[in-house]
Amino acid sequence: MPRVGVLALQGDVREHSAMLAEVGAEVVAVRQVEHLDGLDGLVLPGGESTAIARLMATSGIRPVLEARLHEGLSVFGTCAGLILLSSEILDGRSDQWSFAALPLAVRRNGYGRQIASFESVVEVKGIGAIPGVFIRAPKIETWSSDLEVLAMHDHGDGDHPVLVRYGAVWGCSFHPELTSDDRLHRLFVESL
Ligand code: GLN
Repeated sequence: MPRVGVLALQGDVREHSAMLAEVGAEVVAVRQVEHLDGLDGLVLPGGESTAIARLMATSGIRPVLEARLHEGLSVFGTCAGLILLSSEILDGRSDQWSFAALPLAVRRNGYGRQIASFESVVEVKGIGAIPGVFIRAPKIETWSSDLEVLAMHDHGDGDHPVLVRYGAVWGCSFHPELTSDDRLHRLFVESL
């Protein structure tokens, strides 16, 4: 049974944990540095990327997770989690940092503010159509050609990646944990 952490500082931790348990993972709530030990994978949930970043710094998780990412830990960032993994944040706070584990530039609230939140079917390579819930979602504006793009979405301004993978690091713009479709979580857990 793979041991999968969910960064549990802020955001939709409960929903991710429930879905990971459903697909057969042993779930660990990561609140302190020690909780990062012995993990096969880690989910960075959606929420507020500035708040999660601040809490990662004050808890001491930031440098340890940075080292684990370099060592090849599998990490799946959704929504705010994608922002935290990106190499460049557009429209971020001036002091906002990120792990630079995904070679892409992401725009915070790139699909619009809360009122512009939407649901759309997302066609995922190897899985098929899944429901995509976009809430103040980050938009991937530019990306490296060696990034694996697993799903694109056209929100009226051309195709933008919404699910990507770069080796062991995965990111998506939407919220797979807020639906009853657990296939993305299953795909991640099966990759561990
Ligand atoms: N816009 C949020 C941020 O910048 C992310 C939204 C989300 O995770 N639902 O952190």
